Amino acid sequence: MKTNVNLEDLKIAYSAKNNQELKFTYFIFCILQFPRLLKLLTACATGIINYRLPLQFFIKKTIFKLFCSGETLDDAFRVIKKLDNYKVLSVLDYVSEGEKNQVAYTKNTDIITSNIVRLGKESPGNFVSVKISGLEDPAFLEKINGREIPVELSDKMRFEKLVERIDHICSTAAKSNVVIFIDAEDRCMQDVLDKITEQMMETYNKKYAVVFNTLQMYLNDRLEYLNFLVKEAKEKKYISGVKLVRGAYVEKERAAAAAKNKPSPVFDTKAETDASFDAAVEVCLKNHSVIDTCVASHNAKSILWAIECIEKHQVPDAYHKVRFSQLYGMSDNLSFNLAAAGYNTSKYLPYGEIKKAIPYLIRRAEENSSISGQMVGELTRLKNEIYRRKEAIK
Ligand SMILES: Cc1cc2nc3c(=O)[nH]c(=O)nc-3n(C[C@H](O)[C@H](O)[C@H](O)COP(=O)(O)OP(=O)(O)OC[C@H]3O[C@@H](n4cnc5c(N)ncnc54)[C@H](O)[C@@H]3O)c2cc1C
Repeated sequence: MKTNVNLEDLKIAYSAKNNQELKFTYFIFCILQFPRLLKLLTACATGIINYRLPLQFFIKKTIFKLFCSGETLDDAFRVIKKLDNYKVLSVLDYVSEGEKNQVAYTKNTDIITSNIVRLGKESPGNFVSVKISGLEDPAFLEKINGREIPVELSDKMRFEKLVERIDHICSTAAKSNVVIFIDAEDRCMQDVLDKITEQMMETYNKKYAVVFNTLQMYLNDRLEYLNFLVKEAKEKKYISGVKLVRGAYVEKERAAAAAKNKPSPVFDTKAETDASFDAAVEVCLKNHSVIDTCVASHNAKSILWAIECIEKHQVPDAYHKVRFSQLYGMSDNLSFNLAAAGYNTSKYLPYGEIKKAIPYLIRRAEENSSISGQMVGELTRLKNEIYRRKEAIK
C-alpha cells in the first residue's frame, strides 16, 4: 500500500468513464450548481411521490442515472463487475424509502438477505448496507427509542419481530462471508438502532467485523459513544465494526430539536464536526485490535489523515482492518486513486425503483448543490479531465 497517495490523478480517477459519460457527469453537476434548476429537479421528484406525476423518465435520465446503479439487481451487478475491473469494491444498497407496512418490511428483509447470498456467491469481498427504517416504521422506532424493553405487549412483540429480521440478515451475512454496514439515521431513533446493532456485533463479530454500526460524527455525543464501543469490545471480546460518517441530516436535526425546544444534538460549526470526525478516526485506528474501521467520506483531508494514522498506529493487515467508501456518482478521484494505491475502497451503490429512491436522490442533490469547496472541486476535476483528454488526442 502506498502511503504517499495522489488523490488528484485525473487519468486514474475517471478511468471507468468514457468521454460521453464524463460530459454527462459534468452536465449534471453543472445543473446542481444552479438553484433554479435544482428546485425544478426537486419539484419533479416531489411530484412523483406526492402526485404520482409521470416524471420518472426525466429523473431516470438525470440524477438517478448519476447517483444510482439502476432499477434492478442485475443492473447493480453489472456496475459491481465494472467497478471490480478497477479494484473498486461495492456496497450494495437496496433503496426502499417510504413504504410503511409490515408486508413491505418483510419483503425488504427477504430482498436484502437474498442479495447477501447472491453477492457472497458471485462477487465475494463486496458489501451490503442496511437501513433499519426500511425494516420498521420510523415513528415506531422513535416511540421505543431509549427504552430498555418496550412496555406495551404489542410494542414488545413488534420490537422482537424487528430484532428477528435484523438477526436473520446478520446471520445470513456471517454465513455468506459478506460484511454489512448498518446505516445511521435520525437521532430520535438512533439509540434503539445502536442497541440492536451492538447485540448483533457481539453475536457475529468474533474474528472480524461482519456487522458495522455507523457513527455520525456531527453529533456531539458520538466520541463518548465510540469510547463506550471500544470498552464493550474489549470486555466482551468481540470486534466492533465502526463506519464513520459526518452525517447527512444537519438541518433536519436542528429543526427537530428546535421544534421540541431542546438543544441541537449537532455541533454548531463545520470545524467542530471535522475535528470530531478526525479524532474518531484516530481512536478507531489506535484501537485496531478491537475495531475494524470504515472511513466513509468525500473529504480528502480526512482520508489522508486516516492513511497517516494507519502508519502512526502501525495497523496490521490494513487492507482488511481499514476500509474507505464513497457514494456512487461522487468523488471518483478518491475511490479510484485509493484503490489503485492498494487500499480497500468501495462505492455505496444504491439500486431500486425510482419512486422509492427519491428521498435518497433529494439528499444527494442538496448535498451537491452547496457551493462548498468540495463540489466546486468536483466540477473543476471533471472540466480538467475533459480538457486533458482533448489535448491527449491532438
Ligand atoms: C459511503 C458513505 C456512507 C454513508 N452513510 C451514511 C449514513 O449511514 N448515515 C448518514 O447520516 N450519512 C451517511 N453518509 C452521508 C454522509 O453523512 C455525507 O455524505 C457526509 O456528511 C458528507 O461529509 P464528508 O465526510 O464527505 O465531508 P465534508 O463534505 O467535508 O462535510 C460535509 C458535512 O459536514 C457537516 N457539516 C457541514 N456544515 C456543518 C455545520 N455548519 N455544522 C456542523 N456540521 C456541519 C455535515 O455533516 C455535512 O454533511 C454516507 C456517506 C458515505 C460516503
